[in-house]
Amino acid sequence: MENSKQLRTWLDDMKLSHPLVIAGPCSAETEDQVLNIAHQLKDSDVNYFRAGIWKPRTRPGNFEGVGALGLNWLQRVKEETGMKTCTEVANTNHVKLALENDVDLLWIGARSTVSPFIMQEIAEALEGTDKIVLVKNPVNPDLALWLGGIERLYSKGIKKLGAIHRGFSTYEKSKYRNIPEWQIAIEFQNRFPDLPLICDPSHITGNREMVFDVSQTALDLNFDGLMVETHNDPDNAWSDAAQQVTPDSLKQMMVDLRVRKETASDKNYREGLENLRAQINVVDNQLIDILGKRMKIADKIGELKKEKNVAVLQSKRWNEILGNMILEGENRGLSEEFVLKMFKAIHQESINHQEKIIKG
Ligand code: PEP
Ligand code: MN
Repeated sequence: MENSKQLRTWLDDMKLSHPLVIAGPCSAETEDQVLNIAHQLKDSDVNYFRAGIWKPRTRPGNFEGVGALGLNWLQRVKEETGMKTCTEVANTNHVKLALENDVDLLWIGARSTVSPFIMQEIAEALEGTDKIVLVKNPVNPDLALWLGGIERLYSKGIKKLGAIHRGFSTYEKSKYRNIPEWQIAIEFQNRFPDLPLICDPSHITGNREMVFDVSQTALDLNFDGLMVETHNDPDNAWSDAAQQVTPDSLKQMMVDLRVRKETASDKNYREGLENLRAQINVVDNQLIDILGKRMKIADKIGELKKEKNVAVLQSKRWNEILGNMILEGENRGLSEEFVLKMFKAIHQESINHQEKIIKG
């Protein structure tokens, strides 16, 4: 993708004074539901109305979308509200039908991005069109797979491209439905600084209470827009009920989100600084998380030592750790003094944890 600047002209041409906003239900359920939500969003900053009509569900037996019928409803949204529309496509047939029915923007879902065959098939079906196509990250944290999907579209002449960050699936339990792994999105921005990057806080959080915070982090990290699942009756939605917000709360969120002003003369400095600070926040959160994990392991060691009646402090082992960490630190530009201080503090906390267990 040699001239990446051209990839964002579709977004720059929109001359938005705020980040791009895509909103609408996870799934189109009925014509009334679709039109009800669309009318409530009509006089807001929403740029594209979304609704999934072909729904890739992890397990069979769940609602799999209304299918092609929903395309007529999206046409009505356009006619009645003037909003542009978008939907997910996952095979040649979807692409053909979406093109025939003038859907304005198409996105590729996380379960399709993982498959190079599907991506190739979709790219070939889109060849010769000038649709805007957004590619969600694959379900697994694999940057190359994400970029590969975008490159397949680009090589078929699709130039109005963008990416959607919707978090990554993990086996481990977390407070997120799909963990954000912001460092992957940051790496993505570093590799393709001009490719528009949109955040999908709905699928990252899986929980409407957390949608605002994740959206704010994304804007602080210079994302170009948000895709937020919005439903007139979220609790009774036919898919993804817990994460959808009402049109009113979406509108309030758009008022409350801090968006950087474009006019300040020191814009570059400030944006650069805020972006770096947001990156530091991400890393700091990871540090705390990893320290918490380390202490949990120390607790388990404490349990074992208690069982076997072994002393908490084992200096041989400790000196070994310290020596290794000083070397590792050196390789990363960290001074010996700093590594020593930090590991003494970590070690002390581990001892405190283990003593509590042994005495307890
Ligand atoms: C969706 O946007 O409703 C969807 C299915 O998302 P994802 O592909 O991110 O799971
Ligand atoms: Mn959904």
